[in-house]
Amino acid sequence: MQPTVTPTHCPYCALQCGMNLAPAPDGGVEVVERTDFPVNRGALCGKGRTAPALLSPGLRLTSPLVRSATGELVEAGWDEALDRIAGALSAARTEHGPDALGVFGGGGLTNEKAYALGKFARVVLGTSQIDYNGRFCMSSAAAGGMKAFGLDRGLPFPLEDIPKTGCVILVGSNLAETMPPALRYLTELRENGGTLIVIDPRRTRTAEQADLHLAPRPGTDLALALGLLHLVVAEGRTDEAYIEDRTGGWEAARAAAMAHWPEYVERITGVSVPQLRAAVRMFCEPEHAMVLTARGPEQQAKGTDTVSAWINLCLATGRAGRPLSGYGCLTGQGNGQGGREHGQKADQLPGYRKLTDPAARRHVAEVWGVAPDSLPGPGRSAYELLDALGQDIRTLLLMGSNPVVSAPRAAHVESRLRSLDFLAVCDVVLSETAALADVVLPVTQWAEETGTTTSLEGRVLLRRQALTPPDGVRSDLYVMRELADRLGVEKGFPTDPREVFEELRRASAGGPADYSGITYERLAEESGVFWPCPAQDPADAHPGTPRLFLDRFATDDGRARFVAVSYRESAEEPDAEYPVLLTTGRVVAQYQSGAQTRRVAELNAAAPGPFVEMHPRLAERLGAADGDAVAVVSRRGRAVAPARITDGIRPDTVFMPFHWAGEGRANTLTNPALDPTSRMPEFKVCAVRLETVSGA
Ligand code: SF4
Repeated sequence: MQPTVTPTHCPYCALQCGMNLAPAPDGGVEVVERTDFPVNRGALCGKGRTAPALLSPGLRLTSPLVRSATGELVEAGWDEALDRIAGALSAARTEHGPDALGVFGGGGLTNEKAYALGKFARVVLGTSQIDYNGRFCMSSAAAGGMKAFGLDRGLPFPLEDIPKTGCVILVGSNLAETMPPALRYLTELRENGGTLIVIDPRRTRTAEQADLHLAPRPGTDLALALGLLHLVVAEGRTDEAYIEDRTGGWEAARAAAMAHWPEYVERITGVSVPQLRAAVRMFCEPEHAMVLTARGPEQQAKGTDTVSAWINLCLATGRAGRPLSGYGCLTGQGNGQGGREHGQKADQLPGYRKLTDPAARRHVAEVWGVAPDSLPGPGRSAYELLDALGQDIRTLLLMGSNPVVSAPRAAHVESRLRSLDFLAVCDVVLSETAALADVVLPVTQWAEETGTTTSLEGRVLLRRQALTPPDGVRSDLYVMRELADRLGVEKGFPTDPREVFEELRRASAGGPADYSGITYERLAEESGVFWPCPAQDPADAHPGTPRLFLDRFATDDGRARFVAVSYRESAEEPDAEYPVLLTTGRVVAQYQSGAQTRRVAELNAAAPGPFVEMHPRLAERLGAADGDAVAVVSRRGRAVAPARITDGIRPDTVFMPFHWAGEGRANTLTNPALDPTSRMPEFKVCAVRLETVSGA
């Protein structure tokens, strides 16, 4: 173990709170306050505070596991485990071709790992079939941002700008629970005289902070945004000079919005016309304003159009590419931002380059020392890849993801995973997905390795090793190097993260997400560096780019693009058989699929299991009391959990957190209907019916 305090970052969400790790009396590490990192200024939520618990050998894997002849997972040596994986990959490729090999990554992987995984898939395996769980997290916001601005970076401004703006519309984010230290930015906004509008079908802890809470019916955020834009036009609140100077496509977008009369929008969303007018007034009257979206509006089969509608509202009022104004997305996973920039996405090469761009292929192929033509084309998106398992895709290598819990239509995905010829999983713990594997490799964690992540602000950060990993544990980079070696590629997969980062810098140079001017030394000295940060004269290093688009947008002509969009219904609307809407989300004490946080006693005590949140009127109709077991049934399956009755939710909607496996698994119910552009599944809305569970 390192003898001194190590400044680093939390392993969980995209806020990437700074923390110090100090030697603990038991030989491990403990979290110590770190006040010099400006984003959280020492504040941590319970997840970050308890993160070292999972470093304990008792809670995590410390030996490779292989499936025995009798079907059990048994401990094995690293060589045996790696030989088995390499043999399975090689056999599948010989028998079925390279696209029979699938790779599934995660938004928690460091930039170095995400970069190496994309390279491994394309150079070593030669497969196009790679995607990652970040597709489930932010792809609609990314697609909307690309359409409008020509670039996707979650927030185009730092969080520190939020308290200085005049109004924030927060759409479908419960950040008081998902990233509690970020709540202070909204509190300071209000202390400074700004206003907060929260849009959420539930009266969440975040909504309780709002000056105005709008609770639309799930799946209608698109109509709501269009109704607000209609009123902006009708009330003469557009910024015509800005529209003229800095945008294109306004007429078509305007015409589409004008078809969404406030009364029509009220009927669709359940948000009254006076509330719509109040929101427009609050948003338009201050000089500056922002719209921030999260998974609520994004995880829909029309998520990209919904994001476009919110961006249109910003553009029509001159609130993008100007100081203290703009549209931003609150990314969810720890490296959700960096994980989507460096090549583990089905259509992407490092530096946010496109796999279909010949110049991008030439640049990256040269860095990799391969022929551009040898690089496969784009593959399937995450859900489509999982749906093809056991069919076109015979063997899967999975890193840092738990789709048995986190994927939509999870029982189906679980059956697809079981139908594979071979499944290899690299993880810290024996997750529900790892438990299905033929080989499980135990890998190092945040505090046991060095690497970079990119926060929701686009701020690249250095996580530093503070602890020697237990015997028997190796890094993901080691796994890729060893597999590459066994598959005949002896060079190009270093195990030193710094060496990988140096190559990533070259591969990203000149791309939209240019990291070439970022070094480990700078990251250690500064509080992170915002991309793009091109390399230039070391004596005059590029400062990074905290604020994007102030001079021009990243489109060919520098103008932002309105996208004309119209409301459409969700893929599955309630009917006589399934009359209630289900929406899903998170609770403060658990993180994503819960594979890590469900193993931490303090977090488990705070949030021990799933629940079905419902309005008293709905509970009365069902005949359920608080705590009664309730079955929630969709066209995809059935989940059972205790009722939690509150008037803080719409009477037509139930809410379930998605952190748990087993009979309370919310994603058993969710709909894999995909957004046509982003391929994001419709996690946030589907039709269900409720049943009481007799004898429970
Ligand atoms: S808010 Fe996110 S980054 Fe911060 S401590 Fe909690 S989980 Fe970690």
